[in-house]
Amino acid sequence: MALLHITNPQRTLDEKYNQATEVPLSEITSGYHAERFSKILVRDNRVYATLREDPDSLLQSYKGAESIAQLSWNDPDNDTILEIENREATHLFYAILPDLLFFLLIVAGLVWLFRGVARSQSTALSFGKSRARIADMRQVKTRFKDVAGMEEAKEDLEEVVDFLKHPKKYTGIGAKIPKGVLLVGAPGTGKTLLARAVAGEAAVPFFSIAGSEFVEMFVGVGASRVRDLFLKAKRNAPCIIFIDEIDAVGRQRGGAGFGGGHDEREQTLNQILTEMDGFEQETNVIVVAATNRPDVLDRALLRPGRFDRRIFVDNPDLEAREKILEVHSRNKNLANDAKLRDIARQTVGMTGADLENLMNEAAIFAARRKRKSIQHQDLVDAVEKITIGAEKKSRKLTQKEKEITAYHELGHAIVGHLCPETDPLHKISIVSRGAALGVTWFLPQEDRFTISRSKFLDEICGLLGGRAAEELIFGEITTGASNDIEKASQIARDMAMRYGMGNDDLGPVAYGERQGTMFLGVDPSITRNYSEEKARQIDTFVRMTINEQYKRAMAMLRKHHSTMGKLAEILLQHETMSLDEFLEIFEGKKPANAAAKKTARKSARS
Ligand code: ADP
Ligand code: MG
Ligand code: ZN
Repeated sequence: MALLHITNPQRTLDEKYNQATEVPLSEITSGYHAERFSKILVRDNRVYATLREDPDSLLQSYKGAESIAQLSWNDPDNDTILEIENREATHLFYAILPDLLFFLLIVAGLVWLFRGVARSQSTALSFGKSRARIADMRQVKTRFKDVAGMEEAKEDLEEVVDFLKHPKKYTGIGAKIPKGVLLVGAPGTGKTLLARAVAGEAAVPFFSIAGSEFVEMFVGVGASRVRDLFLKAKRNAPCIIFIDEIDAVGRQRGGAGFGGGHDEREQTLNQILTEMDGFEQETNVIVVAATNRPDVLDRALLRPGRFDRRIFVDNPDLEAREKILEVHSRNKNLANDAKLRDIARQTVGMTGADLENLMNEAAIFAARRKRKSIQHQDLVDAVEKITIGAEKKSRKLTQKEKEITAYHELGHAIVGHLCPETDPLHKISIVSRGAALGVTWFLPQEDRFTISRSKFLDEICGLLGGRAAEELIFGEITTGASNDIEKASQIARDMAMRYGMGNDDLGPVAYGERQGTMFLGVDPSITRNYSEEKARQIDTFVRMTINEQYKRAMAMLRKHHSTMGKLAEILLQHETMSLDEFLEIFEGKKPANAAAKKTARKSARS
C-alpha cells in the first residue's frame, strides 16, 4: 500500500536537497514503479526522490506535484513513501482560484443569458419594428462588375435597374413595372451578391432582411414586421427590398411535414402577398427575393403581379469560374505563373463562394510558404485541399498497406484510362487525405447534360478497378474498396430504376416513386411502387452488371499486369503521380494531355 503523507513544512533544508541531481520527471516516475526510491518528497512544486540503496543521494525534477499525488492511486502496492509538504494559506487561495473563477464565469454567463432573453422579449413586444438593415445608396459599393459570369442573369437585372432609374419611360407607355424578382440558385452562387449589385447600380436604397428574421417568438410579429418594412420602403422609394432565403416564410401552406411556427409563417407570407398586391403602379419599389428551394415555395408567391420574374443563377461554367477567380484575385498578389484558366478547369461544379474560398486557401498556402505572391502551385494545392481534403502526412501506413493502396489506385487509374467514356485521368496519390488512403483523380468534363448508358458502365468498371487490382496482385481484398462498391451499385441501381437502362425484363420503365423534386441536388426519398418480381429483377440486373464490369476491369488489368508493377514502384517512391508520368510508363511516350489522347483513341476506334 502506498503511503501519502501530507506534512507541515519543516524548513531544515538539508544540503543534500540542494545538491540533488536534476533528472526528467519520467525518470522519477519510472523509478517509483521500479521501487528504486525509499521516499519521494514534493516541496515547492519540485520533486525530490531518495534512492533506496543510497539515502544520501537524491534526484530532483521540476514540477509534478499533481502527477506524484496520482502515483499512489496508480500503484497501490508500492510502498515508496510519498510526501507532499502542506502549503501555506496563500497557497490555499491559489489552489481554489480555478474553482472561484469558474463560479464567477457561471454567474456572468447567467446574467448575460437573462439580459439576452429580456432583450429579445422587448423586441418582440415592441410589436415588430422591422429590423431590415437600410443600406444607404452611397454605401452599396457592389456593382455588376464585381459579379463575374452570370451574363443572362445580369442582363435581366439590368432591366430592373432601368425600371428603377427611369420609371417614366415604362409607365409612360403603359408598361407595368415588375414588382418582384425571384433569384433561384444553389447556395453560394452569388444571389445575395447579385441583389446588392442591382441596388448599387441603380443607386437606390437597399432594404435587406432574411426570411428567418420574420419568424420570431410570437405569432403576428412577422406580419407586422412585413407591414413596417414595406411602409419604410415606400417612404424611401425608389428602392429595393431584398428578402434573402424567402423559403423560410414562403413554404407551401398546408403542406405536410413542415410543423412548428406554421401559423406564424402563413400570416407572414399572407402579409407579404397583401403588401405586394397593394403596391400602386407608381410605388416604384421592387422586391428581390432569393431562395435555393423554389420547389417548396408557395405557388401564390409565384403568381404574376408578385414574384413574376424568375432568374436562375446557375453554377458557374468554365468561363465564369475563371472570371470569378479573377475577381477574387484583384486584391491579392498573384504570381505571373498562376494560370487561372487551368484552375477553372479543375473546379467543375464549384460555386462562386467555393472559388472565393479557394483563392483564400491559396493565399494562406502562399503565406505559410513565406512567398510574396500566390503561385500556381498554391492554387493547385488549394484545389486539392478543397476537393479531396487536406493531406494527412501524419497518418502512418504499414508498407503492406501502402502497397495495397498503390495497386488499388492504379487499378482505378488504368481501368479509368482505358474505358473510353470516363473523364480523363488527372493525378494519382497515395498520400492519405480525409478518410481516404489514396485518390485517383479524374477531371470531370464541362457541360455534360446527358449521360449515356456506356458512360455509366465505364464508370462502374473504373470504380471496380481498385478492387480488381487488389485481387489480382494480392489474391486478397480489403475493406478499402467498400466505398467504390457502394457507388458502383448505386449507379447500376439507378440505371435500372430511374433511367430505363435495365435489361429487357425491366424495359424503359421508372421504378420507385420519388417524393419531392430532384432540384438542386436535394435527394428525394423513394417509395416502392413495384412488385416483388420486379424488385428481384432489379437486383439481378444490378448483380449481373457489377459482375460483368468487374470481369471487364480484371481483364484490362491482367493485360497490363507488368506495367502496373512498374507504375506501382514509382508511385510508392514518389507518393503522387501526374498524368504525364503515368502516360510515360503506360504508353511509353510523353503525349500532351489525356483528353487529346482519349479523343484520338476514340476516333481511331470508330
Ligand atoms: P448566395 O446568396 O447565392 O448563397 P452569395 O451571394 O452570398 O451566395 O455569395 C457568397 C460569396 O461568393 C459572395 O460574397 C462572393 O464573394 C462570392 N461569389 C459568388 N458568386 C460570385 C460571382 N459570380 N462573382 C464573384 N463572386 C462571387
Ligand atoms: Mg445568400
Ligand atoms: Zn477505390
